[in-house]
Amino acid sequence: NYSLKQLQQIDAQHHLHPFTDHKDLRGAGSRMIVRADGPFIYDAEGHQILDGMAGLWCVNIGYGRNELAEVAYEQMKELPYYNSFFRCAPPAAGLLAQKIAQLAPKHLNQVFFGSSGSESNDTALRLVRHYWALEGKPEKNRIISRQNAYHGSTIAGTSLGGMEPMHGQLHGAVPNIVHVMMPYAYELALPGESDHEFGLRAAKAVEDAILEAGPDKIAAFIGEPVMGAGGVKIPPASYWPEVQRICRKYDVLLMLDEVITGYGRTGNWFAAETFGIEPDTITTAKALTSGYLPLSALLVSDRIAKTLEEKGGEFHHGYTYSGHPVCCAVGLKNLEIIEKEGLVERVREDTGPYFAQMLRERAAGHPLVGEVRSVGLMGAIEIVKDRETRERFLPSGSAAVIVRDHAIANGLMMRATGDTMILSPPLMWTRETIDLAGERIAKALDLAEAQLRK
Ligand code: PLP
Repeated sequence: NYSLKQLQQIDAQHHLHPFTDHKDLRGAGSRMIVRADGPFIYDAEGHQILDGMAGLWCVNIGYGRNELAEVAYEQMKELPYYNSFFRCAPPAAGLLAQKIAQLAPKHLNQVFFGSSGSESNDTALRLVRHYWALEGKPEKNRIISRQNAYHGSTIAGTSLGGMEPMHGQLHGAVPNIVHVMMPYAYELALPGESDHEFGLRAAKAVEDAILEAGPDKIAAFIGEPVMGAGGVKIPPASYWPEVQRICRKYDVLLMLDEVITGYGRTGNWFAAETFGIEPDTITTAKALTSGYLPLSALLVSDRIAKTLEEKGGEFHHGYTYSGHPVCCAVGLKNLEIIEKEGLVERVREDTGPYFAQMLRERAAGHPLVGEVRSVGLMGAIEIVKDRETRERFLPSGSAAVIVRDHAIANGLMMRATGDTMILSPPLMWTRETIDLAGERIAKALDLAEAQLRK
């Protein structure tokens, strides 16, 4: 038995944390999250914190669901592992792939499994390039992505992504990836430009990039339907249909990264439905198992699958844990729970709109807030120094961290990214949970304002 202090020291000495300034850990030490139940997490000091981030955008059915533990236990006893290479397969993988295909847009019927969203995007990148090579166009291998996108932390994921600090530490990106503007009206719309017009202009940047390189050089466009880590940036309704029209015009594949939005977050099983598009690939992970085990699924269109089958031979690609039976069994049970409990419809019809209203009532009018936005159960609060001029506090990002710390101290886990506060709660949140979050947001904003303007 270790004391909290000892645990923190051990952690600081030996655990290299992701996305963390390691100097910081030597000081205050990590907050030890020791258990969780329903919508709450608990730290080692006994604080109960409402988890406004669903872990990292993933624990959609909430914590403490024994059904998932039981399924994992049974599968582990029956068959803890077998691979799906060389025409072997644990049945759970096929059953989960079938379930995903049933829930997905109807032209996506094949699923490739991995363990993480990053892996899944690597797979997608290799797959679309392989597709064009099989189609006799190996030079059609460039990918268009967006500034500020997040597609994972592997070298391919970071290269696809458009986050400047990550590129700054990449020291050699995957070649042939270009980045265009993101569809973020609050910062990038011109004076007098409507959201609709801005959405079309942001889509036009995709067309310009295609024409600059030549359509015969562009394999695909990749994007998150709603940029997540980049600050829950929700594009105008005009954006995605126009991007799709452009992709079709030049025969460029459309790759959607639904690692965050997949399995219900935007009020549909997939955000492709929410934004009215039919992508050629969809990358998913996170909520596929509600985060209970690591698992990703790349959904592949009939068009790509047909080429693979007819012209393919072997696609030399796969992971030891592709189709891991325990992860797949848990994924299947998780999707059944989401379906049985009607969580996706609930987000679309009830909790999503209620969440949007809460953000408007509790945050939108606050002196520190420039904009609130949400889709389904995914929301953001933009922190500004001056609502009129949209001037930010300096240094960039410092104010949001203050709001975040007050939120956590008052029992609400939120994330700060740049000057944006992010919420992405479990889909099992009820109106009451949303009310509780609203009270804590209002309090955190007030406390932060008092601190920032003193
Ligand atoms: N793509 C998106 C949109 C993500 O938000 C993330 C992770 O947050 C990833 C990919 C990478 O997923 P993972 O962390 O499971 O590798």
